[in-house]
Amino acid sequence: MTTANVVNPATEQVVATIEATTEAQTDAAIERAHRAAVRWREVAPGDRARLLRRFADVVDANLEQLAQLEVANSGHTIGNARWEAGNVRDVLHYCAGIPERLLGSQIPVAGGVNITFQEPLGVVGIIVPWNFPMPIAAWGFGPALAAGNTVVLKPAELTPMTAIRLGELALEAGLPEGVFQVLPGKGTVVGQRFVTHPAVRKVVFTGSTEVGKQIMVGCAQQVKRVTLELGGKSANIVFADADLERAAATAPYGVFDNAGQDCCARSRILVQRSVFDRFMELLEPAVRGVRVGDPADETTEMGPLISAAHRERVAAFVEPSTKVAFTGERPDGPGFWYPPTVVLPGAPTDRVLTEEVFGPVVAVVSFEDEADALRIANATEYGLSGSIWTNDVGRALRVSRGVEAGNLSVNSHSSVRYWTPFGGFKQSGLGRELGPDAALAFTETKNVFIATT
Ligand code: NAD
Repeated sequence: MTTANVVNPATEQVVATIEATTEAQTDAAIERAHRAAVRWREVAPGDRARLLRRFADVVDANLEQLAQLEVANSGHTIGNARWEAGNVRDVLHYCAGIPERLLGSQIPVAGGVNITFQEPLGVVGIIVPWNFPMPIAAWGFGPALAAGNTVVLKPAELTPMTAIRLGELALEAGLPEGVFQVLPGKGTVVGQRFVTHPAVRKVVFTGSTEVGKQIMVGCAQQVKRVTLELGGKSANIVFADADLERAAATAPYGVFDNAGQDCCARSRILVQRSVFDRFMELLEPAVRGVRVGDPADETTEMGPLISAAHRERVAAFVEPSTKVAFTGERPDGPGFWYPPTVVLPGAPTDRVLTEEVFGPVVAVVSFEDEADALRIANATEYGLSGSIWTNDVGRALRVSRGVEAGNLSVNSHSSVRYWTPFGGFKQSGLGRELGPDAALAFTETKNVFIATT
């Protein structure tokens, strides 16, 4: 038996010791899920909907406990953690509307009737990263369960606590044994088995682009369905005609939320040259004012990084050629703290401009005009998210259409709503989660022709 310690990143204290799932246990769970899938797909749509609603209600009743677990395990601020637990509840409620509305179609043909069915795939394997353990899990398991699939879920090694609790709550809500199983453990053991086990019909992977590519190659061996939600290097583009005060005041939220450990983090700020100096003047107090500290304190805005190793990785992005413009608070004492940091890159090839930092470091650069802004924004292999600040509606639409990314916001930094589609262009991913078509990604379309003559 292998065990792993779970560490609170704000205190560096061990909060739990978790037993890692072995390959044999993973196989047993997949086989259990496979048997359960045969029954789950036959559950009447109204009953499946009722069970998902009950699951949502049980999550709601345990919302504070889930939030506190996330604070202790991941160092998320309590405000964010409550939002994340609430997001699981809301996703489940939304998905509870799916079973009765998962329609096929009837297509007119000569000599018979032509029907299409949306059938569940079977067992779905969901692999989750450590940055948003609850919502990212729910974006996969909500629609997958609603469409009649069973789920095996692997949380990240560093952050298994809330997923384990969600597994217990699913049983408490009455989901049948084997329909939703949580398997904490290693990516290279549990996650890999999702990729190679033939009974797993789809893998939903959220994580780094590097591992995502390996998953895709592995799934190709069985032409296994795959959804990939990967890294990002999103641009926050500020035009001279924008409300500069608002753009600067909210820019820290756009990149430092969750200590920058956010695939949608706007880790490049592109500012039109004519207002660059003014924007930097406004940005400085906003960054210095970010309250960094104890994540359990209701007033805290930014917590620690997830681990010491990750902090080292983040620090390496501030290269000798990179000028640090200013930084924010950094608490003393134990905890994997890193201050909000604003840098002016020395060259367009600086890693801080080309690679995902996944920490509270943002690079600010200037641009001349719309074409220049688009050129810089798109000069990355990623394409997940981004913001555009302008008061010109024509420009807002032109630039939105020009940025190669799946999720953009104008005069805002919001990225995710469970009822709108989410996913990346280019190497930020493959497929979409959430939104009205979320469940279709967990079905096969079957066409049946019935001759009537
Ligand atoms: P990671 O790729 O290291 O790990 C993600 C998950 O994959 C973990 O559960 C891990 O155990 C598992 N894993 C690792 N190797 C595996 C293998 N060989 N086979 C199967 N599973 C394996 O990523 P991370 O460091 O946990 O998360 C950070 C990354 O996730 C960032 O790049 C971030 O941008 C990305 N992310 C993307 C989105 C999105 O929606 N696009 C959302 C959140 C995070």
